[in-house]
Amino acid sequence: MSETLLEVRDLVKHFPVGGGVLSKKTGIVRAVDGVSFDLHRGETLGLVGESGCGKTTTGRCILQLERPTSGTIRFQGEELTTLPPTAMRKLRRHMQVIFQDPYSSLNPRMTIGQIIEEPLKVHAIVTEAPARAERARDLLTQVGLLPQHAKRYPHQLSGGQRQRVGIARALAMEPALIVCDEPVSALDVSIQAQIVNLLEDLQGRFGLTYLFIAHDLSVVRHISDRVVVMYLGKVVEIADRTSLYEAPLHPYTRALLSAVPIPDPKLEARREHIVLRGEVPSPLNPPSGCVFHPRCPVAIARCAAEVPALREITPGHCAACHLA
Ligand code: SF4
Repeated sequence: MSETLLEVRDLVKHFPVGGGVLSKKTGIVRAVDGVSFDLHRGETLGLVGESGCGKTTTGRCILQLERPTSGTIRFQGEELTTLPPTAMRKLRRHMQVIFQDPYSSLNPRMTIGQIIEEPLKVHAIVTEAPARAERARDLLTQVGLLPQHAKRYPHQLSGGQRQRVGIARALAMEPALIVCDEPVSALDVSIQAQIVNLLEDLQGRFGLTYLFIAHDLSVVRHISDRVVVMYLGKVVEIADRTSLYEAPLHPYTRALLSAVPIPDPKLEARREHIVLRGEVPSPLNPPSGCVFHPRCPVAIARCAAEVPALREITPGHCAACHLA
């Protein structure tokens, strides 16, 4: 097992609702509720779940874009939650993010070259302007674009090309960790595969570590070494890719996987589809016991009363279910 790059323990992020200056706090949204996992150097960890499960908030807490309510986040041996702002600014260059919508994250008034050069200038990584421009052109070719794209503006590029620029900007910082937050979900399916392949290729070339946040289980399967499944702010299952996809232990993971289409029509017609009843409950008022119990097809009486602990069922394969 390689070195642990990131260690998240009992991470909690609650958002008060109501509130404001004049009104009283009316409740708490439990967006992330006790999440723990490790990320090893050089691996890709998929973080999956439906919209609202807390995966993006978990990513934002790791990047310190949100202040966690409690819990610890150790990155390269440093505890981020207590790090002074100046030390955090220095460390930030080693943690980069690729967003879902590259268009809204690229300044429309700057050329692509300026966008990629900006962090190099701000963090004084390359101090001379001609060398910065050269580095930007080099980064563009690393992500499959042309040096002349440096002179264009974001609106002159396609969605896939803009996402390549977002990747080049992240790479400019020579980061140890890249948080990829739904990096392909806004792109056409044909372009999605190209971007995922590019991310894999860059990982091989530069030894990158990815936290890959996505709701699409087929994309996560393609790129991840291990996968964390979240439901309503909690981790319900962690396993390596093969164990998770071939022998899922948690009823929620089984239901998610049963909804992923198989390309073979004969196999697709024969397999069982698990339809979950109802909607995901509100994180403002999560169910008692196992938060999945109102929708779980195999729930027993104990499930409504007792929170299942995340337990290691087989080596490296953990699930939070009384029946696992
Ligand atoms: Fe279903 Fe109970 Fe397991 Fe929760 S603990 S997933 S409700 S069987």
